Formats: sequence, structure tokens, C-alpha cells
Amino acid sequence: MNRRTLLRRAAALAFLPVLPKPLRAAISENAPVRRVRPGDPSWPSEASWTELNEDVGGRLIRMNSPLSVCREAPDGAACGDLFRELKNPYYIGDNVALTQTAGWVDAWESQPSVYAVAAETTGDVVAAVNFARDNNLRLVVKGGGHSYLGRSNAPDSLLIWTRRMNAISLHDDFTPQGCAPRQPPQSAVTIGPGAIWMHTYNAVTTRGGRYVQGGGCGTVGVAGLVQAGGFGSFSKNFGTAAAGLLEAEIVTADGEVRIANVCTNPDLYWGLKGGGGGSLGVVTRLTLKTHELPPFFGAVSATVHAFSDTAFRRLIGQFIDFYADNLVNRHWGEIVTLRLGNRLEIRMVFQGLEQQQAQTVWQPFFHWVNGSPQDFTYQLTPRIIAAPARNLWDPVFLKKHFPSGVLSDDRPGAPADNIFWSGNLAEVGHFLSGFQSLWLPASLLQSDRRSALADALFAAARHWPVELHFQKGLAGGSAEAVSATGDTAMNPDVLGAFALAIIGGEEPPTFPGLPGHQPDLEVDRRNARAIGKAMNELKSVAPGAGSYFAESDFFEPDWQTSYWGPNYSRLLSIKKKYDPDGLFFVHHGVGSEDWSADGFTRLSGR
Ligand SMILES: Cc1cc2nc3c(=O)[nH]c(=O)nc-3n(C[C@H](O)[C@H](O)[C@H](O)COP(=O)(O)OP(=O)(O)OC[C@H]3O[C@@H](n4cnc5c(N)ncnc54)[C@H](O)[C@@H]3O)c2cc1C
Repeated sequence: MNRRTLLRRAAALAFLPVLPKPLRAAISENAPVRRVRPGDPSWPSEASWTELNEDVGGRLIRMNSPLSVCREAPDGAACGDLFRELKNPYYIGDNVALTQTAGWVDAWESQPSVYAVAAETTGDVVAAVNFARDNNLRLVVKGGGHSYLGRSNAPDSLLIWTRRMNAISLHDDFTPQGCAPRQPPQSAVTIGPGAIWMHTYNAVTTRGGRYVQGGGCGTVGVAGLVQAGGFGSFSKNFGTAAAGLLEAEIVTADGEVRIANVCTNPDLYWGLKGGGGGSLGVVTRLTLKTHELPPFFGAVSATVHAFSDTAFRRLIGQFIDFYADNLVNRHWGEIVTLRLGNRLEIRMVFQGLEQQQAQTVWQPFFHWVNGSPQDFTYQLTPRIIAAPARNLWDPVFLKKHFPSGVLSDDRPGAPADNIFWSGNLAEVGHFLSGFQSLWLPASLLQSDRRSALADALFAAARHWPVELHFQKGLAGGSAEAVSATGDTAMNPDVLGAFALAIIGGEEPPTFPGLPGHQPDLEVDRRNARAIGKAMNELKSVAPGAGSYFAESDFFEPDWQTSYWGPNYSRLLSIKKKYDPDGLFFVHHGVGSEDWSADGFTRLSGR
């Protein structure tokens, strides 16, 4: 606690004896009933904000909406420029007042906080946490800004923005603090919470020749993904990102800087692994395990179009048989999408196999498709390629050899390694109509259940495209991946699932109420209903299956069970231990049931 805070608290305590009893109790318990907003009498004075600015080395930002240029001149050049940049994830990520998702119909809208601390040090974070707690403010934390559910967005709040805390350093011999000599040193990477995966992979794999398990989308933030659980293309072999966490430094609600690892604060460490970001404190540093890099990574792509509904149902059945017999193992990940118009789109990846081996695996499936030209045609002919693993995230290699696969940050002077997958372009700046997910249990791949699964997938794809993310379920994964992921706070359903089904819909960047750039809310609502119908078809064969905290419905029913299953009570007790007054609130985060939907009013749990 700094001197000024100490003096402020001492002054408050001096008044205690003359206050009426209930208020005295509230202050001494330090558990606010309602957080303050601008205009409230107890909103901090200008002088207080100036003090905070001094405490954080001038890094306090008074926030303005970047959309104001469009409100002032909807047809102006500045507004046009802004909407062009809203398709550049680096532009969004570097703007303190923007989030990658613009909003979600009837759920949330991206709106800036009142002030932000653009933290560069752990000390900045400590000062901001203390200020928010002492002044009873709504606090929000943003790293990569990729929360679909608006968890790094809160109007009328103070934001801690970690984007600038993005250092990355590799170790040959890392031992978590307090673990020597019990734990042998191992290879690891220490990452600032504001770093994104594309830069991390470039450091660890391209330059370091090692592998770290992170996310698929390169512009997602490291701290947000690890705390969500976090899946990347090869999670069936390496586990979740959370499973690779060796140690974190975290500032908790009391302003203390704590180390969390298996030997020091092990409860907090477990909670950070998949317990959901923004709920336990502000992570200021993470150290993740690194692995030996496989020699090759490869990809399989094809799009098969079926000429009739009957043929499409047959195709789905055949693919499920093929998947169950050949691909439920540590080698395979990524996505197959069942699209409207009877199309099966294959965009899968592999590791630990050579190109020839992958071709041999897929030969029977494509042979089967080729055998029925009256029923099927290729909209994209099958392609199976492999390349040295070290090149997968190498910006120079990708721009030269895979130019259609990557896009670049096109701002003047942007770093050359600011690239992103072109497959993620549709999601940049999008406005969501719906987004739901479900872990599909591997029991559905048993021979007597496959037909029911194929029927459900076919029925779902009558309503809306269905994506099967095979890397986001650990069934068939390596023993190490399954065991390390089992030791996290995530819903254990993830261990027995062969895939996470995702069904979502979106519009390009739009903002309700912004002239010329508004979403069509009626269409969004209609689409949301279709998404719900599609998901209900899958739920009929997987009743009670869980959903992934970071990629799920804003309106998820029974979310505590859905996200964490039997782990929720342990997670909640950790939350109450480290944040008894609920300073850290996110939508459907642990302990958020004690608060109003906006996180401003305490409803229960005191
Ligand atoms: C386009 C896109 C692609 C995605 N792809 C994948 C994928 O391949 N695999 C996958 O598993 N998930 C994926 N996700 C989901 C993503 O992993 C989560 O939304 C993740 O939490 C985002 O982290 P962030 O830092 O980018 O986001 P933010 O919005 O900044 O943060 C997300 C949450 O974490 C909290 N948080 C952030 N930093 C900290 C910190 N330092 N300390 C404490 N809390 C913090 C925030 O408060 C917020 O609650 C994707 C999301 C999007 C939008």
C-alpha cells in the first residue's frame, strides 16, 4: 500500500465512531453494496485521478469512443478509415477503447471504460487494483481483447489494459519458485500477459525451435486464453494451454503480488488453469512449459458437395465412421464444417506424421467419395501437405510460400511479424447474433451410436452451419495431454469429448445506434433462433454435455455446471478466499452470481 492510500484509509477510519452502525459495518468489512459510477457523489475527484496517474507513471488514459468520429460525420473520411481498420485485428488490439467483438444482439455492446491504466509494470497493476478497491469502482481487465462474451468490456469502469506488458523470454532450465529441489528444471517460456500468440509462437518456434501450446487464432491474448483453458490445433497431443502453465504472477484484490505454482499458492494456481480470466486477480506474468518441436506440421483440405439431402446424410455417416476409425488420436486436430447446401468442408491439421502417412490415412475416405460421382463433387479438391514445423508461424516463410493463408497489419510502420490467419478475418470486429458450443462425448463414436450422431448433425445442419473443432476435446489424446488437462479447473467433460461443436453467426463490424453502421437486430434475432435450433439437435444426443467458457452462449443456462461441472464448488471457494468482496467480476465468471448483470450491484453472497 502506498503512503497516499494509507493516509486515505487512516482518514476514513478516523470517522468510523460517529457513523451509524450499519454503514460502519459496511466500511469496515470493505464489502460494497453498489459500485460507484461517474456522477455519483463518491466518484473519485479529479485530484484523486491525478494522484493515480502519478502512481502509474503517467499511464492513466481518459478514454473516448473511437466511434465519435462517425457520430459527428457518418459519411466523413475519418469514419471510413475507422471501419476499414476495424478489419485489422492489430488496429483493434492496439486501441485501448476497442474489443475484437463489437457486440452481441441483446447481450452486450462494446463501450469504453471511463479511464484505463495502460500498465507497463506489475507496480502499475497494483496501483490500479488498490485504487479501484479503495474507491469502490467497477474494475475490468483487458489483454488481447478477444472475449466473445464482452468480459473485457465494462462501461463506467476503470480498465487495466495489459497490452504493453508483452515481453517473451525462453528458458532452458526453469524451476517454479519454491519447487527446488523437488522439481527438476525444464524448458519454458515466460510471457507478459498482454502478448499475443502469433508473437509468442514466432519467438518460441521460429526463433527458438521449441513448441508451446497456445491458441489457434494468432491475435488472442496469452493470459486470457490460458485462464479460459485454451485450445490450439495440436491440443490432442500437448493438452490445453492451461495444462502447460508452470507458474503465474498475479495481483490479487488486496493488492498483493503473489506467485502461483504447484508449490506456492497451489489452490490459486489450479484456479488460474481454466477457471476463467478476470475473476481471481490480474495476471502479470505467465510461464508455460515448452515441448520438443515435431519435425512436421501438415494440413488436409477439401470441400465435398452432396447433390441431395440423402447423399449428404450418407456423407456425414461415412465421415463419422472414418473419423472414429482413423482420426481420434493425438495426431489430428482442427475443423470440419457441415454447411448449408449440403457441403462438408474439411480443414484439418496433423502433427507427428509425414505427408505420405497422412495421405495413406485419408485415401479410403476420398476413394469412397470418388466412387459416387452421381452423388458428390469436390468444390475444393483434396489437398494434403506437410512442411517443416519450424515454419508454421514464421512470417517470412508464410508470406512467401502461403500468401493466401495470412494477412498483414497494413498500418504504416507496422512490425513485419504482425500477421494473422486469413481464416480469422470474418471474426475481426464482428457483431454476433449467436454463439454456442457443446462438448460431444466420445461415446457417440461407438458403433451403435454413430447413426444417431450422424442424424443429429444432419438435422442441425438444416438450420445453421455446424463446426466440429476436434482439437477442443481430449478424447483420443496423448496420455500426458489428458492427465495434465485433467489437473485444471475446466469441466472434466473436456477429457471425454472427441470434439467441441460450435454453432455461431455474425455480421461485419456494426454498432447498435451508430448511423450507417447498425446491425440488423431483427435478422440477428432470427439467426440466433436458428442457431439455438441447430444446437438443440446436438443436445438431444448429448444431454447434459458441458460448454467451453470462452466460446459459448452469452445466455448459457446453468453456466456454473456447463463450464466447470463438479469443479465449480472448489473454484468458488478459491474465489472467496482471494477475492471475498468480489472486486473482480466478469459475465458468467466464478462468483458472478452474487452480482447484478453489469457487475455494479451486489445481490448476495456476503
Ligand atoms: C477470433 C477469436 C478466435 C479465438 N480462437 C480461440 C482458439 O483458437 N482457442 C481457444 O481456446 N479460444 C479461442 N478464442 C477464445 C479466447 O481464447 C478467449 O476469449 C480468451 O479469453 C481471449 O483472451 P484475450 O486476452 O484475447 O481477451 P480479453 O478479452 O482481453 O480477455 C478475456 C478475459 O480474460 C481476462 N483477462 C485478460 N487478461 C487478463 C489478465 N492479465 N489477468 C486476469 N484476467 C485477464 C479478461 O478480463 C476477460 O475476462 C477465440 C476468440 C476469438 C474472438
